[in-house]
Amino acid sequence: MRILLVEDEQKIANALKRGLEQEAYAVDVAYDGREGYGRALAGKYDVMILDRMLPGISDGLDIVRAIRKEGRHEPVLLLTARDATRDRVEGLDSGADDYLVKPFSFEELLARIRALLRRPEQTADTILTVGDLELQPDQFQVKRHGQMIELSRKEFALLEYLMRNQGRILSKDQIIAHVWDFDADILPNTVEAFVASLRQKIDRPFKEPLLHTVRGFGYKLAS
Ligand code: CA
Repeated sequence: MRILLVEDEQKIANALKRGLEQEAYAVDVAYDGREGYGRALAGKYDVMILDRMLPGISDGLDIVRAIRKEGRHEPVLLLTARDATRDRVEGLDSGADDYLVKPFSFEELLARIRALLRRPEQTADTILTVGDLELQPDQFQVKRHGQMIELSRKEFALLEYLMRNQGRILSKDQIIAHVWDFDADILPNTVEAFVASLRQKIDRPFKEPLLHTVRGFGYKLAS
């Protein structure tokens, strides 16, 4: 899952990026409103975390308003140093989905990101399933047929993206856009290599393959 983080305090921004990458998210950081605005409008993100107060022409509120005006629905979490009712209301009214007051704990940020990533039709329990394959995003756990499967962080991120889009054909470009960040120099055959290693672990030891190659289009996870 790919996250856009717009935060002008570099120390905070870099610490959050590192922490989120540890959790297998791909993270693009913008340090000012102008760059954040451009990135946000370009799309491609599964979640956006926007600092409310940003130097320059646009702050976090302007960015949310702009993407909502475009009719886009990506989940947005606002970060703010202020904790006044009026600010919360203004933030949520601008189209943000959630609001976190600084200083916050990293654990709480993670929990809120997971909540935002949950599709409305999914229940509160956070296990994703396809057939007998289960993935628990908050525990880094993958099981198939009750058996634990060890994955690398990138394999885990790839599988999570496939599971959240189960039944849909995903192109290599879509996969690159959601599993790797902007700075990663990823070629389509890198995706092939990761798919192959993932398939070794989640499909090879079991009877029914779940990860399907759709020739000329991409990949699909389905039972
Ligand atoms: Ca700020």
